[in-house]
Amino acid sequence: MSKKSKLKSKNLNSASSNLKVLSKKELLHKAKKFSEQYCVGDDKNFTLKDRPTSYFGNESKSAIKETLQIGVRALAAMQDILYAQDKWSVLLIFQAMDAAGKDGAIKHVMSGINPQGCQVSSFKGPSSEELDHDYLWRCQKHLPERGRIGIFNRSYYEEVLVVRVHEQILKSQKIPEKLITENIWENRFEDIRNFERYLNRNGTVVIKFFLNVSKEEQKRRFIERVDNPDKNWKFSPTDAKERGYWNDYMHAYEELIKNTSTKKSPWYVIPADNKSYARIAIASAIIHALDEMDLEYPKVSEAKIAELNAVKQALLDEED
Ligand code: ATP
Ligand code: MG
Repeated sequence: MSKKSKLKSKNLNSASSNLKVLSKKELLHKAKKFSEQYCVGDDKNFTLKDRPTSYFGNESKSAIKETLQIGVRALAAMQDILYAQDKWSVLLIFQAMDAAGKDGAIKHVMSGINPQGCQVSSFKGPSSEELDHDYLWRCQKHLPERGRIGIFNRSYYEEVLVVRVHEQILKSQKIPEKLITENIWENRFEDIRNFERYLNRNGTVVIKFFLNVSKEEQKRRFIERVDNPDKNWKFSPTDAKERGYWNDYMHAYEELIKNTSTKKSPWYVIPADNKSYARIAIASAIIHALDEMDLEYPKVSEAKIAELNAVKQALLDEED
């Protein structure tokens, strides 16, 4: 086992050991420490090649499952306060190559969340109505309300990904030709940074996840999708075609992460070859982000408490 992977397994071991008896404070501290290693923050020298795609720990499957369950429960408890407080909102953005596990991560990490407080939106190729507007328009319509967690399964980041890899898409976007200059990607990074800062200043915390799957693992999952009849529906020949542009996509990801990861709206680059591990890392990052917000249940005034007690007394005094 390499020095790097030993370090990682130590980290997960410390995240999972004695979790059952952890105080809330300890759990929050562990989530912070554990997720920090995957946070890009405002690192302007970010490169993708330094980031792991896999995790070689020696924990049992049940220990990993238990750690995720604890994370899911902690998330659910924090979301309850977010919803009750009704001030902040959270936008979680998931981007990845096909078969990296976006859908499964969303399903498992958010499994304990009250559905009323959570909205998932998936973004595919834009419709003709959407192409009649600026590219943020369709995403803005799905931003989370206060108190809610919004999840974008793909997002406006496709505008600096698939659109950058296949420049003919850009040409079909009905943008005035003179606005398509060599600075277009830099301009889009700037607009996205500003947009996220604007959201932040209005109480929406934005956290972005890149599920970093290796090319080998993607191949394995594609083959499984063909071999397993229950997974056939998940696979399309287009997915295999996009795989042919792997290096272009990695370049586009590296550029966008370097240019749009900030302290307040950071990217997390999550090793995604092991699905369960990736989900724990994602849950830890969300728990940490919620912990940074001043979440508390709304305080009820003395007068209101007196009123509630009067109603309670009236109920107790009711004659059946
Ligand atoms: P899954 O394959 O797991 O069901 P998915 O997110 O890959 O989920 P698909 O329907 O396979 O969903 O793919 C959506 C496609 O839409 C992706 O190839 C993505 O690059 C493309 N897409 C998203 N936004 C845009 C955009 N703005 N312009 C062009 N293509 C886009
Ligand atoms: Mg797909």
